[in-house]
Amino acid sequence: MKRVSIFGATGSIGQNTIDLIARDPGAYDVVALTGSGNIAQLAADAIRLRAQVAVTAQDSLLKDLRDALASSGVAAAAGETALNEAASLPTDWVMSAIVGAAGLEPGLRALQQGADLALANKESLVCAGPLVMATARAHGAAVLPVDSEHSAVFQALVGERIETVERVILTASGGAFRDWPLERLRGATPAQAATHPNWDMGQRITIDSASMFNKALELIETKEFFQIDPFRIEAVVHPESLVHALVGFCDGGMMAHIGPSDMRHAIGYALHYPDRRNLPVERLDLVRIGALTFRAPDEERWPALRLARDVMQAGGLAGAVFNAAKERALDHFIDGRIGFMQMAEVVEATLNRVSASQGHIDAEISLDNVRHADHLGRMTADEIIRQT
Ligand code: NAD
Ligand code: MG
Repeated sequence: MKRVSIFGATGSIGQNTIDLIARDPGAYDVVALTGSGNIAQLAADAIRLRAQVAVTAQDSLLKDLRDALASSGVAAAAGETALNEAASLPTDWVMSAIVGAAGLEPGLRALQQGADLALANKESLVCAGPLVMATARAHGAAVLPVDSEHSAVFQALVGERIETVERVILTASGGAFRDWPLERLRGATPAQAATHPNWDMGQRITIDSASMFNKALELIETKEFFQIDPFRIEAVVHPESLVHALVGFCDGGMMAHIGPSDMRHAIGYALHYPDRRNLPVERLDLVRIGALTFRAPDEERWPALRLARDVMQAGGLAGAVFNAAKERALDHFIDGRIGFMQMAEVVEATLNRVSASQGHIDAEISLDNVRHADHLGRMTADEIIRQT
């Protein structure tokens, strides 16, 4: 039996992972499930999947979790330390599906005990790519991409030499505001931004899709995961969201990965890797689809793409600062304190201010330095927002 843990089990990726695992209960030994505020869901899944332990990130919810798990045989724990301890329990495969930089440390812990890490949490690579990949190498563990674009690139590269890759093209749906006139974007509300035309995802990544901060994170994720020069990584708007990514090779050929907009494909690929198994996803009818379209992204509308290139060029801890500032700008947008287009302004101003203060971005990428850069990014973004 494959021992599995799911971090961020109550979220969109976590629930899709549970859907696949629950279809084949005899094949998995579930070690840890983690969540945050949704105790009823966490407890119900932990009992159904007979997990060893369920962990909520919130200390104050320990009693609620204990009550919900009473006499079920599933242990309850709470808080950041408990999350990290759960990540250190021996397992074969860990789904990293916490949202935000909070996903980094549990993922590192899982790699340190040798588990393969299915990485939905793109922030881990954006904040600390070299550290994550080196930790995997040091412990003989694999990092398996779950982001649909990166799973697509990973699949297109099977049997290929990375030196033959000329370019990697990530597709972007364009999110909720793809066809809005630019002037209207300034007044866009969080509720409008949180509806996605093609994918059903968590609130934060859905808003990040509308602003293209999600694609910006994914460009950086591509550089870190595949070790590809930033100038070889592109984004193209593809409203149908059926081609997830394309890899262009030195002989002019391109491999495109096409599939339904259903995260269970990428999750299932990472779950069964290097095997392929039957997955409960729609089979595409190309004749009914008829046409696949592509267009250039407009960087005036989506300044996050330009910022991603700056971050890739800067390297070092710029990714951690970028992500932290983006997380705070998103919090403030959701709370109604700043407008939709101000998110990119805040992130850009934060990057400028932090990189102007010597040493913060060039330091070595250790967990302590990433934490420091993350803290600095958040404080600086908050300060900039206070001043506006
Ligand atoms: P979500 O908001 O639906 O779920 C997030 C999960 O993280 C929940 O289980 C929540 O309880 C937990 N969580 C939130 N804050 C936490 C904290 N501070 N500490 C510990 N746990 C915390 O998010 P999602 O859409 O499932 O996305 C999860 C990750 O996967 C993100 O990094 C996202 O970018 C990435 N991803 C998601 C999709 C998708 O289709 N949803 C696709 C590609 C990549
Ligand atoms: Mg993606």
